[in-house]
Amino acid sequence: MIAPRPSFRDIPLYSPAKKACRVDLSDNTNLFGVAPAAERVLREASPALLSRYPRGYAPDLRGVLAERVGVGPEAVTTGCGSDDVLDSALRAFLEPGEVLAFHAPTFVMMPLFAQVNGLRVRAVPLRDDFDLDVESLLATQAKVLYLCSPNNPTGTVLSRAAVERVVERAPGLVIIDEAYAEFAAGPGFMDLARNRPNVLVTRTFSKAYGLAGMRVGWAVGAPALVAEVEKARGPYKLTTLAEAMAVAVLEDDADWVAARAAQAVMNRERLREELVALGLRPLPSEGNFLMVPLPGASRVAERMRELDVNVRAFQALPGVGDALRIGSAPWPLMEAALTALREALR
Ligand SMILES: *Cc1c(COP(=O)(O)O)cnc(C)c1O
Repeated sequence: MIAPRPSFRDIPLYSPAKKACRVDLSDNTNLFGVAPAAERVLREASPALLSRYPRGYAPDLRGVLAERVGVGPEAVTTGCGSDDVLDSALRAFLEPGEVLAFHAPTFVMMPLFAQVNGLRVRAVPLRDDFDLDVESLLATQAKVLYLCSPNNPTGTVLSRAAVERVVERAPGLVIIDEAYAEFAAGPGFMDLARNRPNVLVTRTFSKAYGLAGMRVGWAVGAPALVAEVEKARGPYKLTTLAEAMAVAVLEDDADWVAARAAQAVMNRERLREELVALGLRPLPSEGNFLMVPLPGASRVAERMRELDVNVRAFQALPGVGDALRIGSAPWPLMEAALTALREALR
C-alpha cells in the first residue's frame, strides 16, 4: 500500500447523507428550471468542439463579467465552480502550515479545502446576532480570512460595518463568499472587491443561475490578487460548453434569473410562515434556503428521506445547535417537504 501525505490520511470524501429522493431540497440549487439561453447553447453546440481544448482562462466569460461588474477583465477570475476559485485562492496565498480563519458556522467545504492544502484552521463563532466577532477574527492574525454572506448554512447576512472593520484591519486577504448574492435584499460587498487591495469576492452560477451541473464560479479582486489566483487555477478549468452557457445566460436571461430568484425568496418566506405555525423558529435568511434549529435534526431528516424528501441536517452548530437546512423550490415541492416534516415530527 502506498501511503499518501500524512496530512491527507484523515480527509474524507464529500458525502452529504443522501439517497436519491423525489424531492431534493438539500443543496440549494435552482429547482425552478433551466435558463432558456443555456438550453439553446446545449442544443446548438457543435460536436467538433469536444475534441479541442477550451481557450485558456475563459476570456469570453471574463470579459462579460468584467463589464457587468464595472472592472477590467484582469480583475476577474473564473473556475470550475466557486469551490475551485476558493481552493485556488487558498493555494495562492497560504503556504502549508499557515492559518486560514473563518466564522463558524459557515460553508462546510472550507475546513476540507484547508486540509487538502495543508493549512491550519481557526474557527471563530459568530456573535449571538449572527454578525462577525471582529476582534476575535482579527486576533487570529490569519493571512487569509474567509467570510460568507448570505452565510451558508445559517442564511444570515453580515453587517456592512463589521465587514468593513475586518477589511480595514486584516493583515492579509479577505475572501467574501457571495454564492447567494442574487437572493439577498442588499447590494452585498462587490464594491469592496472593486476598491480595496485585499478583498476577493466570489460568486457562482450554481445557485440562482441554475448551472450547478456545468460548474462555473468566478471572483473579483484587485488585478494583483487575481493574477495569483489564476496561476493557482491553471488554464483549462472551464469547459467550452460551460463558458458559452454562462455567457449566454448573462447576456440573454438576466430577467429569467431575477424572476426565479424572486420566486425562491417568496417561497422561502411562505415556508417560514408554515414552519412558525408548526412551532419552529427558522433563522432570518437572505439565501434561497431556511435554517431551522431543531434538536435531533439528523433523525428528523432521516425520517423525511424515508418519505422521499431530502433536506440537509446539521449537528451541534455553534450558536445554533442541531438544525435542518431546507432549500426553497416551487411550492408543490415545499408542500411535499412540509407534509414529510409534519409526519417526521409526530
Ligand atoms: C454552493 C456554494 C458554493 C459554490 O459552489 P460551486 O458550485 O462550486 O460554485 C460556494 N460557497 C457557498 C457558501 C455555497 O453554498
